[in-house]
Amino acid sequence: MKNSLKILLLSSLVASFALAGGEVNLYSHRHYDADKQLYQEFEKKTGIKVNVTKAKAGELISRLQNEGKNTPADLFIAADVANLYQAKTKGLLQSVSSKVLEDAVPANLQDKDNQWFGVTKRARVVVYMKDKVKPSELSTYEDLTNPKWKGKIKVRSSSNTYNQSLLASIIVNDGEKEALKWAKGIVANMATSPKGNDRAQVKSIANGIGDIAIVNTYYIGKMLTNKKDKDQVEAGKKVAIFFPNQKGRGTHINISGIGMTKYAKNKENAKKFMEFLVSPEAQKIFAQANFEYPVLKGVKPSELVSSWGTFKEDTLAIEKVGENNAKAVKIFDQAGWK
Ligand code: FE
Repeated sequence: MKNSLKILLLSSLVASFALAGGEVNLYSHRHYDADKQLYQEFEKKTGIKVNVTKAKAGELISRLQNEGKNTPADLFIAADVANLYQAKTKGLLQSVSSKVLEDAVPANLQDKDNQWFGVTKRARVVVYMKDKVKPSELSTYEDLTNPKWKGKIKVRSSSNTYNQSLLASIIVNDGEKEALKWAKGIVANMATSPKGNDRAQVKSIANGIGDIAIVNTYYIGKMLTNKKDKDQVEAGKKVAIFFPNQKGRGTHINISGIGMTKYAKNKENAKKFMEFLVSPEAQKIFAQANFEYPVLKGVKPSELVSSWGTFKEDTLAIEKVGENNAKAVKIFDQAGWK
């Protein structure tokens, strides 16, 4: 190709990006600083301005319902599959056909109608006090109901979707009866009544209340690298991560994911943003800045996350976890898990 032609093509490419410009509007439930970096990268690359409204997933879902056709939102981002599933069943999303998303996101981590796609993974694991518990004493989620853990488990409230999704995965794998037995068994073994978020559980065992906690992996990364709160760093150092159910189905995985809203006005920009999130560049940011597991093959977790070792994941279709959310909430209630 002649150089002049190359330059012509290149400049028309640049022009088309600049012209593309415009904006894309996000409703996001993700509560992590790393996401700002993603928005900036996307703006730099495409000239498309990213406008973000952050709130709890439930609030964003009712907002989408109330706004209907007038919603300014083009995209809905949730930190958990349960909320993506709900948005879909309430008719708030639309199918997106994209070979890029199809190829990047494993089949079990996307909606069968392509109404949402997982963009990062997180494992819900057991962390244990290194000076009190030997990893050989740990095995499965199910074994946490063993009386040997009486008064030793810290876990947050059942109103949290991370716990609801874990229980939903137990419903899918073991059945409802076993799931109820499990929830009751955990309640019986709790060190204290549930209070605080995942990080608070880790702080609690570090302060001598409880020996093990059930938390999402990335929080340990965020605690260990916290520049503002020394207590989080100290607590993080006292614990180690254990991946449950390695001899069986694997450790429970959840996703953060994204879907295009039914009444999106900036559809093309929205699709570009969705595709950007699964690009190697964005996947690296999720991994490095927020200690999540990339969905895209070939992108490695951060060095710290890699140091926790590789593990077998539960590969059940994640939409089943969303599908069983209502049952999980009911079982938690029956079990008296506050
Ligand atoms: Fe979180």
